[in-house]
Amino acid sequence: MELSQFIDFSDYWSVSKFILFTFFIIFLRYVFISVIFIVVFEILLKEKYVQRKISKSLKQPTQRKKEILWSILTSFIFSVSGTAMIYLYSINKTSLYLTFSIHDIWYIPLSFCIALLLHETYYYFLHRFMHHPKVFKHFHKIHHDSIVTSAWTAFSFHPYESILQAVIIPIVVIWLPLHVYVLLFLLILMSISATINHLDIEIYPKWMLKTGIGKWLIGASHHSLHHRYYTKNYGLYFTFYDRWLKTESDDFETLLHKKIYAGSERSNSSTTS
Ligand SMILES: [Zn+2]
Ligand SMILES: [Zn+2]
Repeated sequence: MELSQFIDFSDYWSVSKFILFTFFIIFLRYVFISVIFIVVFEILLKEKYVQRKISKSLKQPTQRKKEILWSILTSFIFSVSGTAMIYLYSINKTSLYLTFSIHDIWYIPLSFCIALLLHETYYYFLHRFMHHPKVFKHFHKIHHDSIVTSAWTAFSFHPYESILQAVIIPIVVIWLPLHVYVLLFLLILMSISATINHLDIEIYPKWMLKTGIGKWLIGASHHSLHHRYYTKNYGLYFTFYDRWLKTESDDFETLLHKKIYAGSERSNSSTTS
């Protein structure tokens, strides 16, 4: 199947239609993932996860509406960036590939890990930059207007912030050879991770804490502390930059432990009695 069947980059109308189509895909991905997490953790498994809710205070009454409106803008900016990436691919300016035999099979997980690390590095330093007092109110304040976050906060950014977030993946695929499926997997993971981080319910299982993986992965406990303290916990997927550069909040591990084991004592005692 040829790319030219879907878009003709010499035709303004064709490009506009493609941006609109991509916008719907990206916005529906955000809505779909948010709804899934809300239905599972706030409705179906509410009783099990109610003790794992992190913030005690309530969300502002108009918060969800504002978050969804900002997310519509974010989805549009991401769709323009996605279309730009496809244009670069159409003129052979990216390192994206479609045939598995082009690189060894072990390169698939390796390229995925490299892309994650590059994204983590870019985001950590971008995030610190956006918290600079002179920059914060122009770029990042909209996201922090949500003090108690929810699944809907995941895409709630000012357009300036969305643009800075949107440029990294097209830049990465220019020089890092990535299979198209790896790129798609990365894009879906980005949305799921952003939803987990903003859910305000610690959903990680106990084994993650027991094996030590939990303290290296960012989840709801880690990121809710960022929305509480502002100048702590800047990471995206992993905590190592916050640990190395001493920006991790001191109470992260205590909160993670408390939330992961929340309700366990009660359920243990009720099953033994
Ligand atoms: Zn956030
Ligand atoms: Zn922030």
